[in-house]
Amino acid sequence: MNLIFLGAPGAGKGTQAEIVCEKLGIPALSTGNMLREAVKNATPTGLAAKEYMDRGDLVPDDIVIGILKDRIAKPDAKNGFILDGFPRTVAQAEALDKMGVSIDKVIEIYVPDDVICGRLSGRRVCESCGASYHVDHKPTKSEGVCDSCGGKVVQRVDDKPETVLSRLATYHEKTAPLKDYYQAKGKLKTVVGQDSIADTAKLTLEAIEG
Ligand code: ADP
Ligand code: ZN
Repeated sequence: MNLIFLGAPGAGKGTQAEIVCEKLGIPALSTGNMLREAVKNATPTGLAAKEYMDRGDLVPDDIVIGILKDRIAKPDAKNGFILDGFPRTVAQAEALDKMGVSIDKVIEIYVPDDVICGRLSGRRVCESCGASYHVDHKPTKSEGVCDSCGGKVVQRVDDKPETVLSRLATYHEKTAPLKDYYQAKGKLKTVVGQDSIADTAKLTLEAIEG
C-alpha cells in the first residue's frame, strides 16, 4: 500500500501518518523530518535547504525529489509507505510518476486556515526523532522531553506566526493544485480533521480502507 497524506501545514498529516503507519506496518516518510535532520547534521543538502525552510518557502524540487528517491529505495519501504509532506508541487507529483511509483490513495486532511494558525503556535517537535506534540492537545508527559526517545522537545523556527501565514499561502498556491491532480486519477479522499486526534485517526483509517 502506497499512500500520500496531503494537507496544509499543521493539518495533522504527520500525527496521522505516525498512527496509520503503526496500524499498517509500513513506514511514514516525512520529507520535512528528512530535511530537518539534514539541516541539523549540516549536510550539503541541509545547508542548501535551511534558508528556504526558515522563511517558510518550499525547498527546490530537485533537492527534495533527490532525497525522497533515495529514501524510498531503502529496504523498509519495499512493502509500502506513507508519504507525509511529499509531493508538495505538481512537478514533484510528476517526478513520482516518472519513478514508476504507483499510488493507491491520496488522503487529504482538511482543516480551515484559522484553526491551523492556532494549532501551529502550540506545536512542539522532538529534535532527535521528529515526534510531534502540542502544548494543549498532545503534551509530553514530562515538559520539554520526548515521550518516545527522551530527546529535547522544542518549537520549530518556522512555527512563528509570520512564517505560518506565508506557509499557508504557499500551500494554497503550490500544493492545493495536487488535489485536482489526484482527483482526476480517482485517488483523492478527503478527511475533515477533527479536534481529537483519535477521531481524525478513525476517519483516516476508514478513508484508507473504504
Ligand atoms: P509542515 O507540513 O508543517 O509545513 P514539514 O515538516 O512537512 O512541515 O515541512 C517543513 C518545511 O520543509 C517546509 O516548509 C518546506 O520548506 C520543507 N519541505 C518539506 N517537504 C517538502 C517538499 N516536498 N517540497 C519542498 N519543500 C519541502
Ligand atoms: Zn523523540
